[in-house]
Amino acid sequence: MNSTIQAIRGMNDILPEQIQRWQQFESVVRDWLTAYGYREIRTPILEQTSLFKRAIGEVTDIVEKEMYSFADALNGEQLSLRPEGTASCVRAVIQHNLLYQSPQRLWYAGPMFRHERPQKGRYRQFHQVGVESLGYADADMDAEHIVMTADLWRRLGLPDIDLELNSLGDGAARARYRARLVGYLEDNLDQLDEEAKRRLHTNPLRILDTKNPAMQALADAAPKLADDLDDAALAHFESVQSLLRAHQIRYRINPRLVRGLDYYNYTVFEWVSDQLGAQGTVCAGGRYDTLIEQIGGKPAPACGYAMGVERLLALLEIADAPLPASPLDAYIVHRGDLATPYAWQVAHTLRLAGLNIILHCGDGSFKTQMKRADASGAAFACIIGDEEAAMNTISLKSLRMSAEQTQCTREQGIALLQSRKQHGF
Ligand code: ATP
Ligand code: MG
Repeated sequence: MNSTIQAIRGMNDILPEQIQRWQQFESVVRDWLTAYGYREIRTPILEQTSLFKRAIGEVTDIVEKEMYSFADALNGEQLSLRPEGTASCVRAVIQHNLLYQSPQRLWYAGPMFRHERPQKGRYRQFHQVGVESLGYADADMDAEHIVMTADLWRRLGLPDIDLELNSLGDGAARARYRARLVGYLEDNLDQLDEEAKRRLHTNPLRILDTKNPAMQALADAAPKLADDLDDAALAHFESVQSLLRAHQIRYRINPRLVRGLDYYNYTVFEWVSDQLGAQGTVCAGGRYDTLIEQIGGKPAPACGYAMGVERLLALLEIADAPLPASPLDAYIVHRGDLATPYAWQVAHTLRLAGLNIILHCGDGSFKTQMKRADASGAAFACIIGDEEAAMNTISLKSLRMSAEQTQCTREQGIALLQSRKQHGF
């Protein structure tokens, strides 16, 4: 017997009954990004593996163990499904010379792929909306990113997301800090778990990110990167903070916030919710002034961030945010030799008037068809029998309110359905 084929673990179908939330989210997000003057960019889902190695870093979790990579069967080229969006975005900007004339405010959205252990809020195919500002060096852009995300939470109706902030300084500061941190960790070798021992000489800053409860005290007592920042980094960080204060954005400085990707410098931030369990970070990002050059472009400063769509949708569910009404205006039920061809014409006229219409397909008594109409979520049933066809009328019955069925002309019907759409009854 054939076993049934299932979707790959950690890769989810988004079913029609869930899609309303997604589309609601996407439409709020699109309006929000447009309001801030960001323009969308769409890049391929597949890229050369070397792009991610160069951008994200060879010794990061993502590149070491989370990428879906394979050799192209035809020419052996090493390819990877994108695990994040910044590398591709920057590649495209360099390839098409987009920074030639002016800096760029860009956004992207779509699926990302990471081979992680699937759990609530952590999937192998998940979705991000990302924002990148390329060619901007000053703290005002770091602040714009944070202020605009706070505005998105407001637009979505999600009040309880907390901001954590840190500065990583420049490469030299991180090198100084790295040496101090490795010294401290070596002095406490017996307290490191296996993962930390493995990272000690590859990516020691990441040890501060540990989720292991047994290592929290050690991580908390570790030397602080802040002590290695030079004056320029401190001034930049202070400017970001004063802009946040001016816009009443509350934040907490988290000296252990180092982010998993190698390309960050200066400001890094995360928006965290306490309602999602272990997977509480819904949005994260920061400045990456050296990345463009690292990928082969002319040096230019930049910063950006990405949010996890599944985690934000989970917050919308928890907040029980209201969903928009069904977009369907009417479901046409019809029966009879005259009625059916007439119903097709009516459906066409109503759609031409901008209404969203389902025309019943397949056989079925009026009773069965009315059940389908009800289940469709449409606002009205439009009933067409031979009598309506002979008199060139339609009958409308509200499916959401108890009201009499009314028989009227097509034009009257269109007016009624349109005014319902406008006033939402
Ligand atoms: P985490 O610490 O949760 O693994 P990360 O640092 O790997 O996150 P980023 O690369 O910064 O995450 O991605 C930005 C956002 O994308 C995260 O804050 C999160 O909301 C979301 N995200 C990342 N990985 C996943 C995943 N496997 N499943 C669902 N969402 C994810
Ligand atoms: Mg991760």
